[in-house]
Amino acid sequence: MTNHNHGHHARNHDSGHEPLHSHGHGHTTEDMLSVEQAYERVLASFQTLDAEEKPLLECMGQVLAEDITSPLALPPLANSGMDGYALRHSDIAGASQEKPSNLEVIGIVAAGQMPDKAVVPGTAIRIMTGAPVPDGADTVVPFEETDEVQRKREGKPLDQVAIFADMPTGCNVRPAGEDVSAGTLVLEKGTVIRAAEVGVIASLGMDKVKVIRRPVVAVLATGDELENTGTPLSGGKIYDSNSFSVAASIAASGGVPRLLGIARDNLTDLNAKLEATAGADLVVTSAGVSKGDYDIVKDVLNERGEMNFWSVRMRPAKPLAFGHLISPGVKNIPLLGLPGNPVSAMVAFEMFARPAIRTMLGKANIPRPMVEGVLNGPIRNEDGRRVYARVEVELKDGVYQATPTGPQGSNILTSMSRANGLAICPEDLAGKDAGEQVQIIMLDWNEEVQV
Ligand code: AMP
Ligand code: MG
Repeated sequence: MTNHNHGHHARNHDSGHEPLHSHGHGHTTEDMLSVEQAYERVLASFQTLDAEEKPLLECMGQVLAEDITSPLALPPLANSGMDGYALRHSDIAGASQEKPSNLEVIGIVAAGQMPDKAVVPGTAIRIMTGAPVPDGADTVVPFEETDEVQRKREGKPLDQVAIFADMPTGCNVRPAGEDVSAGTLVLEKGTVIRAAEVGVIASLGMDKVKVIRRPVVAVLATGDELENTGTPLSGGKIYDSNSFSVAASIAASGGVPRLLGIARDNLTDLNAKLEATAGADLVVTSAGVSKGDYDIVKDVLNERGEMNFWSVRMRPAKPLAFGHLISPGVKNIPLLGLPGNPVSAMVAFEMFARPAIRTMLGKANIPRPMVEGVLNGPIRNEDGRRVYARVEVELKDGVYQATPTGPQGSNILTSMSRANGLAICPEDLAGKDAGEQVQIIMLDWNEEVQV
């Protein structure tokens, strides 16, 4: 079973609940796919992509395609953790403010230099943080535990030092290989590269790294009513927002969006626009997959590949298309047809496209964080689908409060913008009332939701 099991499974219709069929539209709940079934069928078409070698800083969020073994020890040499005096512990045993140990200062070593002398009994070398500890020294005593400041104030030369404390052997000495010893496995293949991994890899001296490449995802909007942003809106038209919310979601999921623009609801244009999908790892279209649509989208997609048109038992985002564009001599390209309504497109993307992109990136499909919260307003479920209600989640008095972000129509995109989570009403419940417990998929996990 999928690990993407958000919420509950559909129950059998003999579970005692009233069966919630939709009547007269050709589809009953029986021939709808559950979210899990649709997920399984979509995800079965995706594998981890091949690797590429890239400059380190361009690999953020990508998955390591090689084990990283350290060519060196970190730190390479024993070095000082403080500004102070490198000395032999045996020379300061029992030292105190009243009975200081007086040593001859025979040199100085700064970070980036090599000591030119060894510390012998009765001597010390002034040392700065990060500087290699000289041979013979085993301990660094910080300036604060010496008469260094007093000497400077009094204008005395720094060729002598009084040590006021007996500090443990090895104190403030960072041994060679303390962090990493040479030849060890530092980062395993499969690790996701975050800021810390970038730092670790840089500390090994590497400026390039092999990672699973990012999938190129072509985005195509369909519809005669769509207008390009940045142009005046003529009567009856709306701006194409799906291309943008989908492209942004692709980027946020780690993919590389390739915008193909708007295909009109006619054979010629749709066919022409689909030519530009060549070389993409996935094509995401929007609209043209629901019942009232021009059959043209279905016809064209069927003509160019193997397509399935599904009803998924969820709200929003019931209609979904999935299949492959097939052209001779090239790899089949998976195509996911999202519904046209802006919220449906985003929710279907979240449920099916994001996991597909993560699979191609070589990432484990760990679901979004889920929290249990309390509803501040009702969720209605009229027709036995799994409802994903847009909610704003806030932590108040240790409880996650989920407030529906207004009318839940799948065309109301601002309600998605106000939401940071999707609260789930299982398909076998007629709704959830204010005050009830609810499972919430967290779309954002930011400072607004304190953990
Ligand atoms: P359709 O699936 O073509 O019936 O579209 C469903 C609804 O989504 C209609 O109201 C469309 O106008 C709207 N819609 C379709 N494509 C887009 C888009 N790219 N941007 C914004 N709204 C869209
Ligand atoms: Mg349309």
